[in-house]
Amino acid sequence: MTGGFENDTIAAIATPSGEGGIAIVRISGGRAKEILQRLFSPAKADCPFEQCRLYYGRVMVSGKPFDEGLAVMMYAPRSYTREDVAELQLHGGAYLARAVLKEACELGARPAEAGEFTRRAFENGRIDLSQAEGVMSLIRASGEESARAALRQLEGGSSAFIKKQLAALYEAVAGVEAAIDYPDEIDEAEAAGNLAESLQKIAAELESAVREKDWRLMTEGLYAVLCGRPNVGKSSLMNALLRQDRSIVTDKAGTTRDTIEARLTISGQAITLTDTAGLRSGADEAEREGVSRAKKAIESADALLTVIDASMPLTDEDRETLALRSEAKRLVILNKSDLKTLTDESDIRRLCADAEIVSVSAKEGLNIERVKDFLLRAASHRSEFELSGVRQMRAAKEAAQALRSATDALSAGLPVDLAEIDIRRAVSLLGSLTGDEVEERILDRVFSDFCVGK
Ligand code: GDP
Repeated sequence: MTGGFENDTIAAIATPSGEGGIAIVRISGGRAKEILQRLFSPAKADCPFEQCRLYYGRVMVSGKPFDEGLAVMMYAPRSYTREDVAELQLHGGAYLARAVLKEACELGARPAEAGEFTRRAFENGRIDLSQAEGVMSLIRASGEESARAALRQLEGGSSAFIKKQLAALYEAVAGVEAAIDYPDEIDEAEAAGNLAESLQKIAAELESAVREKDWRLMTEGLYAVLCGRPNVGKSSLMNALLRQDRSIVTDKAGTTRDTIEARLTISGQAITLTDTAGLRSGADEAEREGVSRAKKAIESADALLTVIDASMPLTDEDRETLALRSEAKRLVILNKSDLKTLTDESDIRRLCADAEIVSVSAKEGLNIERVKDFLLRAASHRSEFELSGVRQMRAAKEAAQALRSATDALSAGLPVDLAEIDIRRAVSLLGSLTGDEVEERILDRVFSDFCVGK
């Protein structure tokens, strides 16, 4: 029964661990129905388990009623894995679900490995590789935004994008191959000219799908920078943010005016928080160095937290900090709100009309949640994107690089077959994402499009 084309029957708890409203145990494979019939005793005697119909009844463990629940069968190929799939909905709670899973395994299923349902869906042609990755990201997605991206991928959004780029590449390659193979009939210089142009276009499409910031957010997390003059409470705020999370604070080697960096995780979103020195350059070199580092940090920030001491009137240095130009998402933090305030929101509003402002007390831990909320929103601020998943982004990035180098070769007047190597690399990189057999298709294309010397 195991191995070979005929898969064995697998079972798993399909809902997250911990307490929840319901828990679902999912069984997939040839014995799914048989196992379900032994696990579930329907309330009505007549229970044909029609496709996708929910039946109410009792969940049985060791032949005894164990829980009330709902059962559904989805028959091959009209199921997620394209095999027979049974699902049992139980009352929430890890204990119940585990007991039912154990029972299912005693009745002939085996525990599924991580991602095995999705793997079967892929192997049985239900979804392509890129969609399979989408499911994985969806399962792992923490923020709402990444879940949305994962969903788009699942829906084939990024497959469609990659397939479109691949199709364009096939065209280009077809042209080149025909020129190489049939030099008398197709002018190589002309083919090369057209090719360079189309490659550049594809590279640009790919590059725009992998924006640097998205890439960094995905791989390293949000880069947030704290700025403000000395003593406004930047370090205190950083500590307040870190206190509630397990995190590592790393003092970067250097002077006291250097930047301090910490990693924290908020609701699964990785964030690097950098505390900068003030922006006023002091007399000594170390201080000037600190200021230039701070400016660099601010330039590359995804999120900029400007801290103001609300217990004092605004100073010139505060105004300078507020006037900093940055493409980052900005939050102005009025700190020390536990004290009598001499600077309030309207003072800030006058200087930065559309700033997002929040009053906090780092010392008392007041409103720190709102700062976190801002960071989370900043991390999810990825506009429209075509790709999700590190592997997709990496492949698209490398493919774009290969295409750029092909274009360089062509522009330098090198033979077309040198560019072809890079193009083929790009094709196989993109092809690896959809799991398509690419080489065959390129050749098909050459013959169907050019039919030279029939
Ligand atoms: P930094 O130089 O901007 O990093 O400021 P620090 O975090 O070192 O804070 C400067 C001083 O302000 C310290 O004495 C802190 O205890 C104090 N401080 C920081 N945050 C608050 C706050 O929310 N309320 C009050 N009352 N004092 C604070």
